[in-house]
Amino acid sequence: MSCKKFCLSLFKYERIPSVEVQIGELPLGGNNPIRIQSMTTTDTNDTQASVAQCKSIIEAGADLVRLTTQGQREAENLKNIIADLRNEGYTAPIVADVHFNPAAAMTAAHYADKVRINPGNFTGEAKRFNVDADKISDEEWYGILREKLSPLVDICRQNETSIRIGVNHGSLSDRIMARFGDTAQGMVASCTEYLDVFESLNFTDIVISIKSSNTRVMVQTVRLLAATMLERGHFYPLHLGVTEAGSDAEGRIKSAAGIGALLIDGIGDTIRVSLTEAPEAEVPVAQQLVDYITSKATHATIESVSDDSYSPYEYRRRESKAVLNIGGNNQIAVIADATARKKPERFDADIVFCNDNYADGKPVITDNCDADSLHLISARQLIEKGSANDVFVLIQTANIDSELITVLQKSNVVIIAKPETTNPTAELRAFILKLNANNISAPVIPWLRYDDKDLATFQLKAAADAGLLLIDGLIDGLMLSNFSLPEKDVVDTTFSIMQATRSRFNKAEFISCPGCGRTLYDLQKTAATIKEKFGHLRGLKIGIMGCIVNGIGEMADADYGYVGAGRDKISLYRGKELVSRSLSEEDAIEKLEEIIRKDGLWRECK
Ligand code: SF4
Repeated sequence: MSCKKFCLSLFKYERIPSVEVQIGELPLGGNNPIRIQSMTTTDTNDTQASVAQCKSIIEAGADLVRLTTQGQREAENLKNIIADLRNEGYTAPIVADVHFNPAAAMTAAHYADKVRINPGNFTGEAKRFNVDADKISDEEWYGILREKLSPLVDICRQNETSIRIGVNHGSLSDRIMARFGDTAQGMVASCTEYLDVFESLNFTDIVISIKSSNTRVMVQTVRLLAATMLERGHFYPLHLGVTEAGSDAEGRIKSAAGIGALLIDGIGDTIRVSLTEAPEAEVPVAQQLVDYITSKATHATIESVSDDSYSPYEYRRRESKAVLNIGGNNQIAVIADATARKKPERFDADIVFCNDNYADGKPVITDNCDADSLHLISARQLIEKGSANDVFVLIQTANIDSELITVLQKSNVVIIAKPETTNPTAELRAFILKLNANNISAPVIPWLRYDDKDLATFQLKAAADAGLLLIDGLIDGLMLSNFSLPEKDVVDTTFSIMQATRSRFNKAEFISCPGCGRTLYDLQKTAATIKEKFGHLRGLKIGIMGCIVNGIGEMADADYGYVGAGRDKISLYRGKELVSRSLSEEDAIEKLEEIIRKDGLWRECK
C-alpha cells in the first residue's frame, strides 16, 4: 500500500490478529469472535434496576455489559451489582464507564472486569494541574500521566482488570486541541500518549476505542490508529462504535455504514451499536452486522490493483468527470432500480432504471421514466462501438480487461458497476482503483442487489456494503435493488445511507445519544418528538444529549443542541453557545423552534 498500511489487504477480507486480552472470563481479540456489547441506561446506584437491565442485555446475546460509573457511589455499587449477577449465574464481564474521575476508576477497578477511561478528560483540565497544558514539555506531561495512571495500573494488575482507552471526538484534552486541533491525528495522539505510559508501566491489558458520531471521522481515525498500531508492532483489540447514532432505521444504518466500513477491512474486535432505544435492542443489530461481515470471509478472489489514488485518512471525492449530470461536482445520484416492477413509481430518486420503455429491446435508464430516455448499453456493445458518449454502460466489475479499458479511455459514459462476489465493497474498490490507475475518470454507480424481505436486514446489509465506498468518496451515485420490498423503502434506504455517510442530506441530521445512567430526562420519547417536529429541516444537525457533562463535547458539530442539564431542566445550544437554560422538556422544544425560526433556518413541512 502506498499510504500507511492500516489493514492486511484492501481486496481480501482478513481480520487483523490483535493481541488477546482477557476481560474477566472472556478472551477478547486475537482469533476470538468479534464480541458484542451494550450499556445500561439505569442509575448505577439502583442495584435492582441495574441488575435487571444487565440480565436483559446478556440474555439478548451481549458478551459484555457496561455501566455508567461517574462517581465513587456508582463505583462502590458495582460490587453489589456484580455480586448479584454472579450469584444468579451471569458470568459476562462487567465494564465500568468512568470517563474522567480517577478516584472512581480506582474504586471500580476493584470490582469490574474492565474500566473505561477517556484520555480527553481523565487527567483533568490543565488548570487542575495549575499548568498551561499546551506549553509544558512532553517530559513533564508524561510525568503527570504516569502519576495519574500508576495507581490505577497497580489496582488493575492486582485485580486482573483491563482498561479501555476510550477516545471520543468532541472530548479531546486542551493539550491535544492546542497541538493538533480537532483532527484524526489529535485523536490518535490522545490515545498513544496513554499507550506510551501504560507500556512504560508494563501494563498491556488494554482495549482501545476512538468514536465519533460522524462516520467519516470515525472511520478515518480508527484507520489511522490501526496503521499506528501496525507500525508500533503491538495491535491492541479495538472496540468500534458510532456515537450518538440515533434510533430506528437512521441509527441502524449509520452504525452499519461506519462500523461496517472498518469490519470489512478486518478491523475491530468488539462492537457496540449505540441506539437511542432500550439497550437490549442494540444487541441483535450488532450481532447481525458482525455475522454479515464475517460471512464474507470466503469471498471469491479479487484481483489486487495499485492503490496510489486511494485516500483512507481524509475525505477526497474521486475526481470523476461530469457525464449526464452525474459525477464531477454534481451531487451523489440516487438511482432506483424498477426493472422488475410492474409500474415504476415516481419517488425522489434522480433516475429510475426501468424496462417499460425499451430501445431496440434493451433495457434503458429513463429520467423519472419520461420519454427522453437515457440509454444503457453493455460493456460488449461499448467495445463493438469503439467508443460512446452520454450513455450508461453496465460493467461486471470482475470483467474489466485491456480491451474495455481502451474504449473507456475514449468514451464519456457513466459506469453502472455490477459486482459479483460476496464482498462487493472490496470488489468495487478494486474496480475503481483500476479505473484510476488507467486514467479513466468516468463516474461510477455501484449496483448492489439484495432480496431480503425484512427491511431492517436489507438496510443493514446495504449500509455495510455501500458505507465505505461513500465514506471514501469513491462513487458518484448508488443504485440498490430489492424487489422483495416496496420501491419507496429501497429509495428511502439509499437516501439514508447517503445521509449517514454525509454524502448527501435530504433531511435533518440527529445526533442523539443512547442514554446511560447520567441521562436526565426521557430521552427516547423526547428524541422521537424532536425527530417528528424538525425532521424536514434538511441538512440541519440537531444534538439530543442526555446530560451536560459529556453531551456538549460529544454532540461535536451539531448546529443546535438539546441537552439535559438537571432533572427536567433542558439547556439549548446554538453550536457550542448556550442560548437558553432551565427549560422544561416541552418548553425547550418550542423554544428550539423559535430559535431556528429566528435564525432563518425554519421551513414549513410540505
Ligand atoms: S451524553 Fe451523557 S447521558 Fe448521553 S450517553 Fe453520553 S454520558 Fe450518557
